[in-house]
Amino acid sequence: MSHVFPRQITAPPVKAVSAKGCYFTDENGKQYLDGSGGAAVSCLGHGDPDIIKAIQDQVAQLAFAHTGFFTSDPAENLADLLIKYAPGDLDRVYFVSGGSEAVEAALKLARQFHIENGEPQRRHLIARRQSYHGNTLGALATGGNAWRRAQFEPILVDVSHIAPCYEYVDRAEGESAEDYGLRAAQELEDEILRLGTDQVMAFVAEPVVGATMGAVPAVAGYFKRIREICDQYGVLLILDEVMCGMGRTGHLFACEADEVSPDIACIAKGLGAGYQPIGAMLCTSKIYDTIGAGSGFFQHGHTYLAHPSACAAGLAVVNAILDRNLLAAVQTRSEQLFAALTDAFGQHPHVGDIRGRGLFAGVEIVEDREAKRPFDPTLKTAARLKKAAFEAGLVCYPMGGTRDGRMGDHILLAPPFVISEPQISELVDKIGSAFKQVD
Ligand code: PLP
Repeated sequence: MSHVFPRQITAPPVKAVSAKGCYFTDENGKQYLDGSGGAAVSCLGHGDPDIIKAIQDQVAQLAFAHTGFFTSDPAENLADLLIKYAPGDLDRVYFVSGGSEAVEAALKLARQFHIENGEPQRRHLIARRQSYHGNTLGALATGGNAWRRAQFEPILVDVSHIAPCYEYVDRAEGESAEDYGLRAAQELEDEILRLGTDQVMAFVAEPVVGATMGAVPAVAGYFKRIREICDQYGVLLILDEVMCGMGRTGHLFACEADEVSPDIACIAKGLGAGYQPIGAMLCTSKIYDTIGAGSGFFQHGHTYLAHPSACAAGLAVVNAILDRNLLAAVQTRSEQLFAALTDAFGQHPHVGDIRGRGLFAGVEIVEDREAKRPFDPTLKTAARLKKAAFEAGLVCYPMGGTRDGRMGDHILLAPPFVISEPQISELVDKIGSAFKQVD
């Protein structure tokens, strides 16, 4: 009997024993194609010798040193590298152990910035429905996924949730994409005006929405307008790139495609590529210098901040993405992936939309293509698809998200950047077999 506490207590997971390239092997020798990078984590695939060596060398030299006393070469070098490529005025990097921690740090930094900037009344947070920012209480309160929040509502801080930018569902007939983007962004200004123009501390959004919507980018112009609104009212823009960042969309930072830069960015997943748990919060020099000239102390922290072995892994990963030209590989494979998905499912009676950016793709499953009507939530389509795909030897990420209270289902795909063209065909074939089993 196992003493491990699995998340799904009624269906404990299969035991994985090894992984190489784009495949996992379980204890019975069965292989699984990694079609989602384990929720968009394993961007380099598995068993990469350069990353393994970087970690081994660092562990042998300096595995851990508490940031209350020390910094380390891997932390310094990784911060330099990230800032070299980070958009806009991002200038400082705060290393944590994962995505939720990066978001928590961002929320606290936003609050502390306003206090030290002489606006302590700014305490309201605005985020979007159908978003996911993590499972710790602050991050969960920020996220707008009704199902994940439900039983914890009474202990979550109050956050305003406006509409996401979800063209497939919300763009009106005859409305241009540009007008739709401006209409969606207007909700932010309306909410700021409702709360009070000097009351809001930050707006939080994923540039490409991952887990709750299935790789949904905003329409062109949406984030530019969001940036303008934030600037006009002194609201910090926090972009959560935990899932979509670090090359996943074909840009190192996903917001590059939207031609905006945030005041604070959160990254994780692809940064450690699964080799070590690591995340980071990046902020502008304005925020850093305000606190530096004020209290001089960020009132936040964890034991494993800037963990040297994790930073060594992150440094090796980002160097691999850049040195091996993987951003270009993502673009090439992206075209192949979207062509194969459209070929296979473009006319499928239950596929409503195929969207995404880079190697970050979403396939939305609907009961009725014309009405774009999602399946009845009790059908648990996503859970059945996940099981059927797993049996067919594919790890993918089907989710029953929420469309403002109604269930909507999608499959999220985020394969390693090193996936080959034949492996893309295998991935699409296996989704096809899963669909057949669930039909
Ligand atoms: N933010 C986004 C956009 C995510 O997709 C996730 C995880 O899926 C998180 C935050 C939380 O990250 P973690 O699970 O590493 O805490």
